[in-house]
Amino acid sequence: MKDNNRCLLEVKNITKKFGENVVLSNISTEIYKGDCLCIVGPSGGGKSTFLRCLNQLETVDSGNIIFEGEYDIADKKTNIDEVRKKIGMVFQQFNLFPHLNIMKNMTLAPMKLLKLSKEEAENKAIKLLTRVGLSDKAYVYPSTLSGGQKQRVAIVRSLMMDPDVMLFDEPTSALDPEMVGEVLDVMKELANSNMTMVVVTHEMGFAREVSNRVVFLDNGVFAYENTPDLFFTQSENDRLKSFLGKVL
Ligand code: ADP
Ligand code: MG
Repeated sequence: MKDNNRCLLEVKNITKKFGENVVLSNISTEIYKGDCLCIVGPSGGGKSTFLRCLNQLETVDSGNIIFEGEYDIADKKTNIDEVRKKIGMVFQQFNLFPHLNIMKNMTLAPMKLLKLSKEEAENKAIKLLTRVGLSDKAYVYPSTLSGGQKQRVAIVRSLMMDPDVMLFDEPTSALDPEMVGEVLDVMKELANSNMTMVVVTHEMGFAREVSNRVVFLDNGVFAYENTPDLFFTQSENDRLKSFLGKVL
């Protein structure tokens, strides 16, 4: 069940420019505990930039991003480590450290930032790897894993920090088709466990089945938003209809 009372991220009028290029234009939205918000839209529309602003990987030019009613992620003075502890991010390109085995990849950040002991961190890593069917891969290097396995590790590596929100930027776009399903299954299980998620994806089946809200991000604005059943069938937005015509 969604706990719609608790707003985790309140995005207020954020604008982001690269030079003269206005990439995000006065976007506002609220993300509640347990939401699985899927963001879809054409390439170059600003989807990655939006996610990156939520995680302080980009600074906004104006606006606020209030996290758990407490502090403003958009404020440059906000401690980036605090934000990264609470908001995990999974990218298209896994970003595992190639020179570290999976266990070290998993335990590095929580030992440093959450001050877990090595034993605590390793026990937690084994539990999470087991959850995604990869406990036998703890001591191998990333290069020996398939793309789907790497992405499953990247997801549980983020979970090591016990994040309150998980951001996904096209997590299956770099995968061979036969590996897409295993990663979507992990994300689906996560959503069902009430993790709050913001997912940029071209997987319309996932958006339709797993999310509770879908938004069309086009030309830097949230051009249309609805529940998944209505989003895919009822929209009168011409650009959305044309976009869906190409991807469905
Ligand atoms: P999407 O993820 O929807 O494809 P992006 O957020 O990556 O879109 O990009 C939105 C726009 O911002 C594009 O026009 C892109 O060229 C531009 N852009 C993204 N990152 C940068 C950057 N670091 N410097 C300059 N322009 C950028
Ligand atoms: Mg992108």
